[in-house]
Amino acid sequence: MKPGKIIAVSLFGYIIYLGMRFFNMMNPGSPQRLKLAQENIPSASEQRADNLWAYYLINAENPLDSDFTVGLDKVQDSFMLDERCAGYARQMIADAKNDGIELTVVSAYRSVQKQQENLESYTQRLMSLGHSSTEARKLAEKEIALPYTSEHNAGLALDILTPDWWETHDDVTVDFENTEQFRWLSENAHKYGFILRYPREYEDVTGIVYEPWHYRFVGVYYANEIRESGLPLEYFYKTHF
Ligand SMILES: [Zn+2]
Repeated sequence: MKPGKIIAVSLFGYIIYLGMRFFNMMNPGSPQRLKLAQENIPSASEQRADNLWAYYLINAENPLDSDFTVGLDKVQDSFMLDERCAGYARQMIADAKNDGIELTVVSAYRSVQKQQENLESYTQRLMSLGHSSTEARKLAEKEIALPYTSEHNAGLALDILTPDWWETHDDVTVDFENTEQFRWLSENAHKYGFILRYPREYEDVTGIVYEPWHYRFVGVYYANEIRESGLPLEYFYKTHF
């Protein structure tokens, strides 16, 4: 390449770089997405990916089919998950215990009917606290997914707390993030294929409030990728399929 051409190409590159920096400056939410687009991200057909059956979105826009069925297996006490990932959860709980951390499962697979009941009873509770019925329903739907739209209905999600949680709390709260259980899960859950599904900074993307207790199985490969990206599953899935 002639020197003149090299300068022209470099100048062109620099202008593009400046343009991108300006764009990032004007769009504070965009750097991560730009970075992702530039990287050569493996798709779901990536050979190292495991448990691809579990790599899909379940949310308000992506409900389960009405004829959805799932084979279940025990995780802890009477709590069950999809039989294909229950073993990962059991291993995670056993390994945490070896590290001196007791993980207590308080919710796992939930039938669609149970989901409906939970939503209704929570709406009633909010109404008893003074909210109008419309308001209460709206607030309840921010915390409890509609039937068929919960990862619990799919048997892919665990809610985990401390063994003594209910002695000091009457609800699940973000205080859970101050426990050694949360710290252990933050460091280790991905190794067993689970992700923190509803991060604090992406409530508007997931449509669900920050839930430090809710862990979703996506397979070990994608759990690692998602954790590293720092993105919620909604964004990650869009760019990786
Ligand atoms: Zn949950």
